[in-house]
Amino acid sequence: MAARIVTRNPEQDPSLSSKPQPDRSTELQHLAEAACHRSYAPYSRFHVGAAILLESGDVVTGCNVENASYRLTTCAEQNAIAAAVAKYGPAIRIRAVAVANLAKAPCQPCGACRQTIAEFADRDAVISFPGDDGLTVRRTLSELLPAAFELKEL
Ligand SMILES: [Zn+2]
Repeated sequence: MAARIVTRNPEQDPSLSSKPQPDRSTELQHLAEAACHRSYAPYSRFHVGAAILLESGDVVTGCNVENASYRLTTCAEQNAIAAAVAKYGPAIRIRAVAVANLAKAPCQPCGACRQTIAEFADRDAVISFPGDDGLTVRRTLSELLPAAFELKEL
């Protein structure tokens, strides 16, 4: 079982930024924060950004796109994954995901996004997001979604 990891915010503790980060979480967090500014959120005003690191080393960002018919809203994580598939094709594999929001509010990926990430990621993919205390929280996909839906052939 993967270890639960909670990191301190590198911006609050610069010594952390020099540590090796195979999931490039600090870079991804900054890109996710930048993506927030491109979001379309006139209804909730909750601007969310996501950055995904692919196994290839490429990074793709996304943001939430709301709709007057609320249920048609697209989450930032799903937007980023759709953009990655559109750019690199259906064989993409996700190594890490970062989520941010302009409100700097606690913000974990929703259930639908966890399932969407699971479609393209191994169980040990790292997902980072703002936690309750303003610090960045890192979890593996298996911690956030221990029982992902899988379609088995009959
Ligand atoms: Zn979502």
